[in-house]
Amino acid sequence: MSRVLVLNCGSSSVKYRLYDGETIRAKGTVERVGEPGGGPADHETAVRQILDGLDLAGLDAVGHRVVHGGRRFTQPVEIDDAVFTAIEELVPLAPLHNPANLAGIRVAREALPDVPQVAVFDTAFHHTLPEAAATYAIDRETARRYDIRRYGFHGTSHAYVSKRTAELLDRPYGELNTITLHLGNGASACAVEGGRSVATSMGMSPLEGLVMGTRSGDLDPTIIFHLRREAGMAVDQIDDLLNHRSGLLGLTGVNDMREVLARRADGDAAAALAFDVYRRRITGYVGAYYALLGRVDAITFTAGVGEHSPEVRAASLAGLERLGVAVDPARNEGSGDRVISPDGAEVAVCVIGTDEEREIARETRAVVADHH
Ligand code: ADP
Repeated sequence: MSRVLVLNCGSSSVKYRLYDGETIRAKGTVERVGEPGGGPADHETAVRQILDGLDLAGLDAVGHRVVHGGRRFTQPVEIDDAVFTAIEELVPLAPLHNPANLAGIRVAREALPDVPQVAVFDTAFHHTLPEAAATYAIDRETARRYDIRRYGFHGTSHAYVSKRTAELLDRPYGELNTITLHLGNGASACAVEGGRSVATSMGMSPLEGLVMGTRSGDLDPTIIFHLRREAGMAVDQIDDLLNHRSGLLGLTGVNDMREVLARRADGDAAAALAFDVYRRRITGYVGAYYALLGRVDAITFTAGVGEHSPEVRAASLAGLERLGVAVDPARNEGSGDRVISPDGAEVAVCVIGTDEEREIARETRAVVADHH
C-alpha cells in the first residue's frame, strides 16, 4: 500500500501529487481551469490531462480532497456510488467547491475503475466541535431543516499542523492546547484542545472568520440585506462580491499579501489599512480562543502568509505579552518548521509548513488498509 495519487480540485485549479510511500514521484498544478484564455475548459479536462501524463502503474489508491462533508462525513471514506451521491447532495452547502471535487472523482473513477478512491473532507476534523460552538443562534427548526450550523474547513491542515506542533515541542498531542492559524489565500483559525477541534473561524461555509485574499470573513449580515434592498444587487452578485471581490482584494485591489506588504512599505494608505484590518481580526480570534481554551500551550502559523510573513506574525501577536505570548524577532525571520517565541515563554509560538496533500495521502492509505 504505497503508491497513492492525491487530487485537489480547487475552484480554478487542480493540484496533484503522486506518492510512493512518503516520496513524491510527480507533482504539479493545473491553473486557470475554466477561465477564458489558456487553461483547460473544465475540471474534467484538467484531471484527464493529469492522469494521461502520469505513469500510474501499480497505483494503490487515489485520495480526493473534498471540501464539504456536511454532518454525514466525520472521517475519510472510500468512495462508492452512495458516497458519490451523498457528496452531490451536499452541493447546496458548498456550491463553489463540491462540484469541482466531484468532477475530479468522476473522471478518476472512470479512468481507474479498479483503484480504490478515498474522499478526505476539509470539514471532518471539526466534527468534534461542541454543540455550543457549532450552533448559530437562530430559530432551531429553520437551522435543522436547512443544515445551518458551523462545519469548519481547512481541517486537514489544522490536524496536520497541530500534530506537527506536538512533535516539534516533544509533547503528547492529547495534552496540548494549540491555536492554529492557517493563513493562505483562504484563512482560518482553530482551537485544538488535546487533539480535538473545539472552535474554528470558518462556519457553514469558508466565508466566515478571518480576512482572506478575496473573502471578507466576518461581517454584519445586515450588509447583505442592505446590498439587496438599497443597491438592488442579486443574491449571486452579493455572493460573488463577498467571496471573490472582498478581503485584501476588495481593500487594496490585490489579493496577494506580498503585494499588500510591498505597497504598505511604500506608504500606500489603503494597503496599510488592509494590513491592520487583517492582523486585528487575527488578534481578536487569538484572544477569543485563548479565553475559550483557558490554557494555551502553542500558537502555530501555517500556509502561504503564515509561513512566510514575519510582519504578519509579529503584528498579529503584538501586545499579548500579558498572556505569555511573544515573538523573538531573530527567530521570526528564520526559516523552516520552528519555534519563534523566546526561550522560556509561557506559550510556544511556532511556524510549521502545512502539507495537506501528504496528510490526504496518509489518510487515504489508512482507509484502504482498513478495507482491503
Ligand atoms: P492557498 O490557500 O491557495 O493554498 P497558500 O497557502 O499558498 O495558498 O497561500 C497563498 C498566499 O500566501 C498568497 O496569496 C500570498 O499572499 C501569500 N504569500 C506567499 N508567500 C508570501 C510571502 N513571502 N510573504 C507574504 N505572503 C506570502
